[in-house]
Amino acid sequence: MSTPAIASPALAERATAVLMDTYAQRPLALRSGQGVHVTDIDGRELIDLVAGIAVNILGHNHPALVRAVADQAATLIHTSNLYYTEPQLDLAELLIASAFPSRVFFCNSGAEANEAAIKIARKWGRMHRDGAHVIICAQGAFHGRTLGALAATANPRYREPFEPLPKGFVHVPYNDVGAFEAAIDGDTCAVMLEPIEGESGVVPLEPGKLTEIRRLCDERDVLLILDEIQTGMGRTGRWWAHQHEQAVPDVMTVAKSLGGGVPIGAVLAAPRADVFEPGDHGSTFGGGPLACAAAVAVMRTVEREGLVAHAAEAGDYLAESLSALRDRGAPIAGVRGRGLMLGIGLTSDIARDVAAAALDAGLIINAIGTRTLRVVPPLIITRDEIDEALARLGTAFDAVAAAAREDGA
Ligand code: PLP
Repeated sequence: MSTPAIASPALAERATAVLMDTYAQRPLALRSGQGVHVTDIDGRELIDLVAGIAVNILGHNHPALVRAVADQAATLIHTSNLYYTEPQLDLAELLIASAFPSRVFFCNSGAEANEAAIKIARKWGRMHRDGAHVIICAQGAFHGRTLGALAATANPRYREPFEPLPKGFVHVPYNDVGAFEAAIDGDTCAVMLEPIEGESGVVPLEPGKLTEIRRLCDERDVLLILDEIQTGMGRTGRWWAHQHEQAVPDVMTVAKSLGGGVPIGAVLAAPRADVFEPGDHGSTFGGGPLACAAAVAVMRTVEREGLVAHAAEAGDYLAESLSALRDRGAPIAGVRGRGLMLGIGLTSDIARDVAAAALDAGLIINAIGTRTLRVVPPLIITRDEIDEALARLGTAFDAVAAAAREDGA
């Protein structure tokens, strides 16, 4: 397919000259956003179903978030963690109230949150399990790009160029509780997994499996670490995806949408796993007043606007609408996921072509691998906006089919 001609080529040239080649950037340069819409530098409006990769839960330019950031920037931006600040404590209290009895460590990203969780598990193993240090992770897992988080990540494409990685991580099939059970031995300190695997194509744990894994961790006396970096903050229709089952983790990691676009991450540890002491861990920027004020505004707005329940309803509507699109002949094999975290399985290897054609049609959607489109929109998305987004997706499917016919002719 042709590349959509919607970004200034001059920007792409400048980027090639000065930015490391780490991202396969799309031919799209964004200038502004409003709600679920973004506008590119040529003034074209697009519907954003990616939301900065499951980050902008309040959409773009939400007045509550803009005001909180502006007010805090005009008051106090950074202090270090040598002193107390109110936004940090407000945020910790809100997080704990939304999740489970715990205490919080703040950092700046998902990978950093997982690094902290790994250190907690290692220290806990040293204190309570005779130096046990191995973490059982899942095949398909994605936990971030720093060396510890990468060691917990499964994908060889991400791992191999940087080996040797830290030792002490084992990967077992995601939905196979028996495999987790078999892998736990005297060296194991924790099981670590995502309630829905996001980066490997929106693959959910089957119903009941998280409860079984929680029970297993209790029986074998190891920690359960849940990475809710992508699933959290209401996206699946509960504040945290584990709340669909009564499977409370010992350690939970949070980032992405916590700050609504302002970088921040957090780790929650239940009393059993609350092992850090002064000097064990730290971050210059983590939990700074600017990011915490943003996250407080995000959490209060999610609550005030009822966005957790809305994510469940809007997600059901989106999934039904996708099924209807399939029934009308779109190349959709099935829809996976929960709430507003959905993966659209395609009937052939056209995900990248569809995502590219979608940009032409005014829609931002994310291709994962060759056969999955990921939909993680702002939680504020309305039914009308879903209708319009799927009309544009239909146009993209038609364009890809037409191009395939032309190629075949
Ligand atoms: N964990 C999960 C489940 C993720 O989806 C991601 C990012 O996609 C990360 C961790 C890493 O987060 P970050 O990119 O903020 O380091």
